[in-house]
Amino acid sequence: MKVINTKTNLKNYVLKTKQEDKKIGLVPTMGALHEGHLSLIKKSVKQNDITIVSIFINPTQFDNKEDLDKYPITTKQDLELLKSVNCDAVFIPLANDIYDGNITSTHFDFDGIENQMEGKFRKGHFNGVATIVKKLFELAKPNNAYFGEKDFQQLLIIKKLVKKNNIPVKINGLPIFREPDGLAMSSRNTRLTEEYRKAAPFIFKTLTKAKELFPKNGIKIVDWVKNEFKNHPLLSLEYFTVTNEENLIEPKKISPLKKYRGFIAVYAGKIRLIDNINLN
Ligand code: AMP
Repeated sequence: MKVINTKTNLKNYVLKTKQEDKKIGLVPTMGALHEGHLSLIKKSVKQNDITIVSIFINPTQFDNKEDLDKYPITTKQDLELLKSVNCDAVFIPLANDIYDGNITSTHFDFDGIENQMEGKFRKGHFNGVATIVKKLFELAKPNNAYFGEKDFQQLLIIKKLVKKNNIPVKINGLPIFREPDGLAMSSRNTRLTEEYRKAAPFIFKTLTKAKELFPKNGIKIVDWVKNEFKNHPLLSLEYFTVTNEENLIEPKKISPLKKYRGFIAVYAGKIRLIDNINLN
């Protein structure tokens, strides 16, 4: 596996790969890899000749300094995991290099999707995400790119980014990978204390129950979920919302012809966890 640390070296690697007429799959990550990341990488290895994984903790997508400063870094272990799934190249750049010395984000218009949920509660988050992903697409020139439904709103935003900028890449969304107790895998889970880690599966349990209640109760499940968290001794609900899966707009009335998803953000102490579930 090739370890690439600079933009110039990545460009040269991609040029050579393109000259050999090989299909490139890209999996952007922030490292501290887990089975969820590996499911995307395995898919890419299957569907492309060359898989490039990027590991970059992108400062411009963090609105919370502590979250950025304490983001887990496990590079040595990541490299071993990447080798074990036959990844071809890993790109680990420095911020100054990939941002050309100007570590700021560009402003994007994603037709309002960027202002809901994660966009509302993490100001500037999606400008940061779109800025870095656009740079990665321009450098790696992938035929395919892989993203998890764990960050469902991000997945929709990347699809918009590609459409609006005519970037020739297919965006593939993959299902959420979970721990045996239902907790959605996340690099941030390693920062949970034992007590919070034990409490955290309550999030997915509540989502699953909300899904069961949805056919009869529709949008009323929002109040039901809020109530479930009201008296929880450890977990504090930031938001739960039900939206149309395509445009992330909250429906006034449920239509049997449309697809809906429930989205949740919860604080387990200082650690912010997100999850989502398809409701029909
Ligand atoms: P991150 O390193 O958290 O930025 O995530 C990199 C990619 O992995 C994103 O496309 C995420 O949506 C995806 N991902 C993270 N956690 C999971 C999970 N539990 N299941 C599936 N994909 C995931």
